[in-house]
Amino acid sequence: MIEFSKELLALADEAEAALAGEFAHIAKVSHENTARVMAAFAEHRVDAACFAPTTGYGYDDRGRDVLDRIFADVMGAEAAFVRHSIVNGTHALTIGLFGLLRTGDVMLSLTGKPYDTLEEVIGIAGTPGNGSLADYGVEYRGVEMINGRELDYERIGEILRSEEGKRVKVCFIQRSKGYLNRKTLTVDEIGEAVRFVKSIRPDAFVVVDNCYGEFTETKEPPAVGADLAIGSLIKNPGGGMAETGGYLAGTAKAVELCSYRLTCPGIGLEVGATLGQNKHMFRGIFYAPHTVAEALKTAHFAAYIFRALGYAVEPAPEALRSDIIQTVITGSAEGLCAFCRGIQAGSPVDAYVTPEPWAMPGYRDQVIMAAGTFVQGASIELSADGPLRAPYTAFFQGGLTFESGRIGVLSAATEVLRTCNT
Ligand SMILES: *Cc1c(COP(=O)(O)O)cnc(C)c1O
Repeated sequence: MIEFSKELLALADEAEAALAGEFAHIAKVSHENTARVMAAFAEHRVDAACFAPTTGYGYDDRGRDVLDRIFADVMGAEAAFVRHSIVNGTHALTIGLFGLLRTGDVMLSLTGKPYDTLEEVIGIAGTPGNGSLADYGVEYRGVEMINGRELDYERIGEILRSEEGKRVKVCFIQRSKGYLNRKTLTVDEIGEAVRFVKSIRPDAFVVVDNCYGEFTETKEPPAVGADLAIGSLIKNPGGGMAETGGYLAGTAKAVELCSYRLTCPGIGLEVGATLGQNKHMFRGIFYAPHTVAEALKTAHFAAYIFRALGYAVEPAPEALRSDIIQTVITGSAEGLCAFCRGIQAGSPVDAYVTPEPWAMPGYRDQVIMAAGTFVQGASIELSADGPLRAPYTAFFQGGLTFESGRIGVLSAATEVLRTCNT
């Protein structure tokens, strides 16, 4: 068992007492989201037949169809599909973008540079000829947020009203700050952006990268008019239970177009054997509101502890969240490595492993990662990483249970104090 100092345990008690208001808010959100999920389960008559594996073409897979309906309802969308065969969030987003965009169209990002792995999909990085959107003649434009805090409506409006604006087929919004130094958008802010876009270009699709945002609030982007919300099941909506997969939810028209990219034009959602994965995904969406609440509590707790120890944290401990990501500026390479070592040692799986920085393909600086997870790379489970460059920021998220997340955070604090205060 990991031993924590008396001082640190006292600080942990202080943190929990100080965060009672935030924890109560998180519980309220979780109650409301759980009620929405359970209403969808009842409405669509979830039963044991939904968990039966199918093989081959997977015709008449009741569980698959019911789960699609449940995701649609929970997201406030007209339609959705959820598949274990979507390998990650990038794949889900790729299905969404290729499903909607055609040669000559423009994709306009309203939140600046999209997530790293999308650059090769769009064709602003990587090898020409690999089959990116650019290879197919889809153009990309991005509008940076003002000071990383708000959407640049003036510039977005200018582009949408211009001659080129007539070719904008997709307006793209990344809800979470991801690993960037910007604000995470709330669902209401996304709704405002949708209304703005549609007031100028009613036929343009608004597509939201919803990764890390699901269930942190009581509604999701399709409920405020987004044509698509897209995410990964090894993050929030898999509840720590789904073993792999992704989802797309939105308007019937957008989801249908994307279903032809998921499988084939003309075939869409009528096939796809689920091989016994349905139960994990049903369990995942059932647990997701609760698991996200545990991850949020862990993030607030980490913010409190590390701010008290003198480190800059973002968001602040008392700030309400629209995603599960917490950053701690460790200020040194030793500090960042110590933070990750502590998270790893305070994880349920691979606690004996020591993470080391390595030269990850596609990154300029070395990167260190900690993930002692049941599902490989699952970041709804306690995990941390960061590039080895100033100011040595640790990006931290997840925690399947607050009790275990609390141990992970205290373990990280112990390791950082031992390394940096000598
Ligand atoms: C995680 C994430 C993705 C997708 O990443 P995968 O590793 O492919 O699942 C995309 N956008 C954001 C903002 C993310 O956090």
